[in-house]
Amino acid sequence: MTEDFSARAAAWLAEHAPREPVTDVAEARLFQRELHDAGFAGITWPAEYGGQGLTRADQRAFDALARDYPLPVKPFLIGLGMIGPTLLDLGTPEQKRRYLRPMARGEEIWCQLFSEPDAGSDVAGLTTRARRDGDGWILDGQKVWTSRAEYAEWGAALARTDPDVPKHRGITMFVVDMTAPGVQVRPLRDMTGAVRFNEVFFDGVRPAADAVVGTVGEGWDAAVRMLGHERITITDLRLPHGHPASHAALAALARARGVSGDPHVRRRLAEVYRAERLAELLAARLGEEARAGRPTGPRGSAGKLAAGRLARLSADAVADVAGHTGLAWEPGDAAAAGLAAALLDAPSTRIAGGTDEIQRQIIGDRVLGLPREPAADRDIPFSALRAKGSA
Ligand SMILES: Cc1cc2nc3c(=O)[nH]c(=O)nc-3n(C[C@H](O)[C@H](O)[C@H](O)COP(=O)(O)OP(=O)(O)OC[C@H]3O[C@@H](n4cnc5c(N)ncnc54)[C@H](O)[C@@H]3O)c2cc1C
Repeated sequence: MTEDFSARAAAWLAEHAPREPVTDVAEARLFQRELHDAGFAGITWPAEYGGQGLTRADQRAFDALARDYPLPVKPFLIGLGMIGPTLLDLGTPEQKRRYLRPMARGEEIWCQLFSEPDAGSDVAGLTTRARRDGDGWILDGQKVWTSRAEYAEWGAALARTDPDVPKHRGITMFVVDMTAPGVQVRPLRDMTGAVRFNEVFFDGVRPAADAVVGTVGEGWDAAVRMLGHERITITDLRLPHGHPASHAALAALARARGVSGDPHVRRRLAEVYRAERLAELLAARLGEEARAGRPTGPRGSAGKLAAGRLARLSADAVADVAGHTGLAWEPGDAAAAGLAAALLDAPSTRIAGGTDEIQRQIIGDRVLGLPREPAADRDIPFSALRAKGSA
């Protein structure tokens, strides 16, 4: 069965996959729809919810083949890699029927509305409020660093529904229509020059009663679950074939610049190769375990750290191999601009989805069983913390 699937996938990709990166989101949506119609999106999701109902081995086979092409997957990763799996875990049958198929087809793009100006690493300190209003809710507050909100149709938002219990309780996850009245999106430009995340303001937004994901007041559990899926997704963001900071591209560049014999450059390249292989093997293992129904839990933090390390080592190698073209380039020199973007983008991998420090803390606390960080605020009602100004 998998051999048939692999042969079909290989033939389809050879005929339809783009050879150059696609930057236009409308074009990416069209490609995602074709991918789904051909049977290669939502591969392991149940067919009744718009998936292909196939096996993990099929997913692995497709991933291995797809790596040779610059598929425009980024706009859909938050949906397909994080929110879709969370809805499969916790959503009602109606939510799964409503949201998963358009997500897999790229017709509806999703964003993750967790971080706030005063709640990043400590996301449980969030202050966005959702108050009951008849059958539904009223949402007020601000999110920040929201990737893809500039074009997303839907978001998964965390909001405080009960301030009178400790901060990890009293949080609820909502599906939010990003086009609803009261939602305002303001783009933020990062140091690569691109707009890839946003501030999002909620002013009297009205999610319906059936917008709650999981149980009211148990949004922290839903969030932890989604962050677990996020770590696997990020770990698996191996640099696609041809990416300027991949080992293969850097080795070719070193040859072209006549520095491939330099012992320092050779060591850099070896480090990138090793880090790529490590991230790849960890992603394969974590993904396999998750698809087999074994929660990744805190072990996902090791994968996230490996992805951050790879980004750092690749950026160091870009600086050494490319020299000044990795920092300054002539307008229109796309190859040099790509190298500079790879260099400037590297730190973000070690922040997005939880910083390296937070991943190490999770590993220390929950994998190695080291003494836990003191958390004096854990049992104090959130409203009392706010009153003391320490939330
Ligand atoms: C490219 C990118 C995309 C993102 N996309 C999204 C998104 O789509 N949705 C979303 O909700 N968020 C998103 N984020 C936000 C991201 O999750 C947060 O930036 C991250 O969790 C860190 O929070 P913060 O920026 O508030 O930093 P802070 O939490 O203020 O941390 C500042 C520094 O203090 C350290 N620190 C904090 N607490 C501790 C501690 N207890 N122990 C040791 N060190 C600590 C941190 O490691 C960091 O170095 C994105 C971020 C980036 C960079």
